[in-house]
Amino acid sequence: MFEKLLSLIGAKRHREDSPVSQKKRKRCKCPICTEVIVKCVITNCGHTFCEYCLEQSMMYSSSCPLCRKKISASSYIPCKSIDNFIRSQLTEKQKESYFLRLDLTAKWNEDKKLKDSKVGMKIDALNTDGIWCPAVIQLKIDNGEKNSLLYVHFENGECSYDEILSETSKKIAPAGFFTARNITKYRMGSIAAIGNTNY
Ligand SMILES: [Zn+2]
Ligand SMILES: [Zn+2]
Repeated sequence: MFEKLLSLIGAKRHREDSPVSQKKRKRCKCPICTEVIVKCVITNCGHTFCEYCLEQSMMYSSSCPLCRKKISASSYIPCKSIDNFIRSQLTEKQKESYFLRLDLTAKWNEDKKLKDSKVGMKIDALNTDGIWCPAVIQLKIDNGEKNSLLYVHFENGECSYDEILSETSKKIAPAGFFTARNITKYRMGSIAAIGNTNY
């Protein structure tokens, strides 16, 4: 019995290092960072990336880095079953960098959260074109036990509009979190908003 168990463990070890397992691990890699996917998100076009990598990519482009289909902040969702599978397949060598990158993602998500939101507060908000713009909270609506709703006024060149967003929406962030970065897309966004096509 014991020998049988040992031979089974041996067989399992052999399987883990087989080319098939290596292939499986390869499939769990993020096309952006080429590392094992950390906090997997799946897009509406069916592609998987690290949450952090996709969000960094979306600062520059609103299309899927693989197939170029248009994606928005609300068109990708976390996929916990892939995360669990990946964790069960991690080699000792991969573990350290995996957990470091997991911490980095947690920090990014924490920094991105709006804290102590109040009327008059300047924030960053994502407009309908997928571009982060400076915005102001004009009204805070207490929503009982749920998260508060914020009435947000966008300013982007001559273009301005209002939207009601949940306090925990992925479409809002502390002031400057996105807009203070020198990213072409934001400059293009403000140029597009004032209708200058000669640039
Ligand atoms: Zn990645
Ligand atoms: Zn895609």
